[in-house]
Amino acid sequence: MRTIYSKDKWSIKDASELYGVKNWGAGYFSIDTSGDAVVTPFGSDHGPRISLYEVAREIEDRGFSMPVLLRIENILGSQIKLLNETFRKVIKETGYRGEYRGVYPIKVNQQEQVVEAITQFGKEYSHGLEAGSKPELIAAISMMKNREACLICNGYKDEEFIDIGLYAISMGFKVFFVVEVPGEVDLIIERAKRLQVKPNLGLRIKLSTQAEGKWSSSGGDSSVFGLGMSHVVDVVDRLKKEEMLDCLQLLHYHIGSQIPNIRDIRAGAMEACRIYEELTKEGAPMGYLDLGGGLAVDYNGSQTDYHSSRNYSMEEYCWDIVETVISVLDRNNIAHPTLITESGRAVVAYYSLLLFNILDVSSFLPPPIPEKLPESSSGLLDNLHSTYEMISAKNIQECLNDALFYKSQARQLFKHGQLSIRERALADNLVQHILIKLSQVARHLKHVPKDLKTVNQTVYDIYYGNFSLFQSLPDVWAIDQILPVMPIHRLNEPPTHPAIISDITCDCDGKIDNFPDPYNERRSIMLHELKADEEYYLGVFLVGAYQETLGDLHNLFGDTNVISIHVNRDGTYKFIREVEGDSVADVLSIVEYDVRTMKNRLRKIAEESIELGLITPKDRKAIIECFFDGLGGYTYFEKED
Ligand SMILES: *Cc1c(COP(=O)(O)O)cnc(C)c1O
Repeated sequence: MRTIYSKDKWSIKDASELYGVKNWGAGYFSIDTSGDAVVTPFGSDHGPRISLYEVAREIEDRGFSMPVLLRIENILGSQIKLLNETFRKVIKETGYRGEYRGVYPIKVNQQEQVVEAITQFGKEYSHGLEAGSKPELIAAISMMKNREACLICNGYKDEEFIDIGLYAISMGFKVFFVVEVPGEVDLIIERAKRLQVKPNLGLRIKLSTQAEGKWSSSGGDSSVFGLGMSHVVDVVDRLKKEEMLDCLQLLHYHIGSQIPNIRDIRAGAMEACRIYEELTKEGAPMGYLDLGGGLAVDYNGSQTDYHSSRNYSMEEYCWDIVETVISVLDRNNIAHPTLITESGRAVVAYYSLLLFNILDVSSFLPPPIPEKLPESSSGLLDNLHSTYEMISAKNIQECLNDALFYKSQARQLFKHGQLSIRERALADNLVQHILIKLSQVARHLKHVPKDLKTVNQTVYDIYYGNFSLFQSLPDVWAIDQILPVMPIHRLNEPPTHPAIISDITCDCDGKIDNFPDPYNERRSIMLHELKADEEYYLGVFLVGAYQETLGDLHNLFGDTNVISIHVNRDGTYKFIREVEGDSVADVLSIVEYDVRTMKNRLRKIAEESIELGLITPKDRKAIIECFFDGLGGYTYFEKED
């Protein structure tokens, strides 16, 4: 049940342990002595610390309402640097005779400012892009800043897609067409001949290696992606016949995102290297090995092979890949290829967080038991009351049985008109009091009755957050993704309420009730009591990957405001970009309402109401103003000025 944290003994260290920020913060997030959550974009041990609470208040001072997606641009730079420099270090230490060239898969976060920042930060490392569709390809070409960087084309390709890629090659870009299905080869050959551009070809192969985790079906024999071995042989023969085998330079595979277990990464690399080796024996020039995505983010901070975690560090990831490639290819003296990874999640996840305020709390604590119970004909209330009085460590199971029996009796009696709504409410309260008292007594016991354990899990408050899970955190809903959540202030005070967080959609799935824990997950989070005169702000962290375009307009809650900050070395920071979230009119026009027509209709309805004598012309003015202001406003809960 409720753990009581003592006010005198509470320290920042306790807060840090409770929310696990040291485990999932990756050195970017922590708590400072004043109790604010802070961001350290250059690493926890050096560089400035910026209070997220201060940033949140500055955002509101500028007139942007919560919820806000906050991007800390430097973190993107830090992650690109970390990935590239770790590979470089490992390459140097192992004597690997090839380079690393990362690419960023645009699908992970396609927002223009994200891709722009990645290509900017990635320029000095020749960090390229990966595109899986025509829009992504055109966006990628327009963003490329370095002709040494790779541009990997995955996905199904039609003639137009191929032509666009070929023209990019003719302008000096390192574009690779990765063949996903056998039929694509003929089209690529035909277009290449027509445009007289020599294509760089890669093969996406289907590995028998299957990774654990939520994306395990991306790999393995039954994966829908990639070429099986007989297809590979067919494609090689086809290229030989066209005298184009010299175009085949790259081998690609992707066995899933968020691979929690390093063993699978090693197994995948090993299998791919064998195929790479065979392709060189067939006479293909090769030179590039693209290991796809999968580098995981430790969302729950447990450092385990749990699906929202990973049992390896970035350094181990790089070591395992490089060592595996060396071990397989050196056996037959095959030249070391340029290594490509398509890490998306690990590059962008850390850099965005969702900030929102709490609008209200619904307490699980029932109102106190009245001194004197009203006379009730059924005796039910008295029975419940004596059960409550009777509870002791010795009769827990008995009292629990009684409480559950009376609870269903209350429902029955109410249904048949034998209990009034006031009596029913009182009965419900008494049951709740009994359950709470039972869990308190049971806390000291070794063996807790099974039914009570489930009761324990429901003893929490509901905090209503000003956000939509479906718009801003879709993976929490769709795939039970665990994301770290933490208040961004008051962390020097012990939190007193076990809680779950509900959003403001009217969908019962719109809630966060699974939180990071060193032992993988927990069903509630400890939060602070709301103050009458102060907003309470929470942050959901590590939301930079996949959430933005997967989010939807459930209940017509639109895009949130997005604010990007850049932290300077001297500890100042500036607001570098603001994108205003959708207005009510914006989301309505997305679902095909014409706002002008709507306004005219509303005017007409108001005018009719005057004719019917329901409102005055002055009323009409106020009503129309209110409606039109509403159309122009934010879709989320706005504070009154
Ligand atoms: C989605 C995807 C990625 C990105 O994977 P992450 O796990 O986010 O790094 C890379 N390559 C391909 C082909 C993908 O489909």
